[in-house]
Amino acid sequence: MAVITQAAIRELAAIKGDRAPITSCYLDVDGRRVARHQDLEREVDILLKSARARADGEASVETDLNRIRQFVSTGLDRSRTRGLAIFACSADRLWQVIELPVPVHARVVINHVPAVGQLESVLREHEPIGVLLADRQHARMFVFELGELVERSETFEALPRATGARGEKDRGGDHPHALEEHTHHHLRNATQLAFDVWSQHPFQHLAIAAPEHLAGHLEASLHPYLRKRLCGRISVPVTANHSEVLAAALQVEGQVEREREAQVVERVRTAVSAGRRGVAGLGPVVDALGDHRVDTLVVSKGFAAPGWRCRNCDKLAAMGRRCKGCGGEMVEVDDLVEDVVEEALTQSCQLEICVGNADLDVMGRIGALLRY
Ligand SMILES: [Zn+2]
Repeated sequence: MAVITQAAIRELAAIKGDRAPITSCYLDVDGRRVARHQDLEREVDILLKSARARADGEASVETDLNRIRQFVSTGLDRSRTRGLAIFACSADRLWQVIELPVPVHARVVINHVPAVGQLESVLREHEPIGVLLADRQHARMFVFELGELVERSETFEALPRATGARGEKDRGGDHPHALEEHTHHHLRNATQLAFDVWSQHPFQHLAIAAPEHLAGHLEASLHPYLRKRLCGRISVPVTANHSEVLAAALQVEGQVEREREAQVVERVRTAVSAGRRGVAGLGPVVDALGDHRVDTLVVSKGFAAPGWRCRNCDKLAAMGRRCKGCGGEMVEVDDLVEDVVEEALTQSCQLEICVGNADLDVMGRIGALLRY
């Protein structure tokens, strides 16, 4: 599976639908969530039906939606794909399918530019992570990106003959000094291996797996560039297979992600309490979004709340029923948060979906950093 890059996203974002609007379609096709293909197809049908209603009879968009439906029933291999991002504009002969190893938030955006916000979020939330495993003889280095192994390397160093012959249990023995020197030498090689791999394939976070008495030495001998990327220790044996290492790495990634979310929430909290460039709560967020002032939208995962949408100009509001924009009549929507997220993605805002962040919940489960 090709790994999506920042450069590829920029290239996509530069496309303009000159002849017709561009259809951006994100699908959550995670087999762990929806096992049966026919259930997935039913879900996609519902999503595409509401998109068709918004397409307003635009022929190119109709063709895009049909092609997406066709792709889901015939061209989709879900063994490694959990999320799909499809960008289509048949009038401009655009058809690009990006298969992601992580799930995305299902939605269809029809606009004159591709809605790449979710792709950016995926990249941001799954920064490359390195794992260095070591014991007294082995060192192995892995780099994972978007839940896929992208790089690996290893080194092995035989124990000094005298020690090696007596075996692992007898470590220390008659020549504690010789052993120590050997171990230090090996750990230096291990950290050099990590550095070489990082130079080839940079990663943002580094996790260490090593026996307790070695881990501290290992961390201390890391290059400063790598030491500042340390994000925790994991406990898998140096001989672990790559899916065991990946499982442990994903756990670390989850922690890193929760910490990052906490930082964003803290920025919102500070901005709100300073009364500058920050809002909290559904009503203020919806109003800021309506004024195109939102830079980063922050939402608690699973938050849903009813609200209103203007029949006439599509403006969203927490309170109805007269539109503050055009004075038109508003209709109730079951879940205003869905509409808010969609509108934010259409405006290419950054989106942060936070998992279990109590500080955000206190602020009303939704907030935003503003452009001005
Ligand atoms: Zn209105």
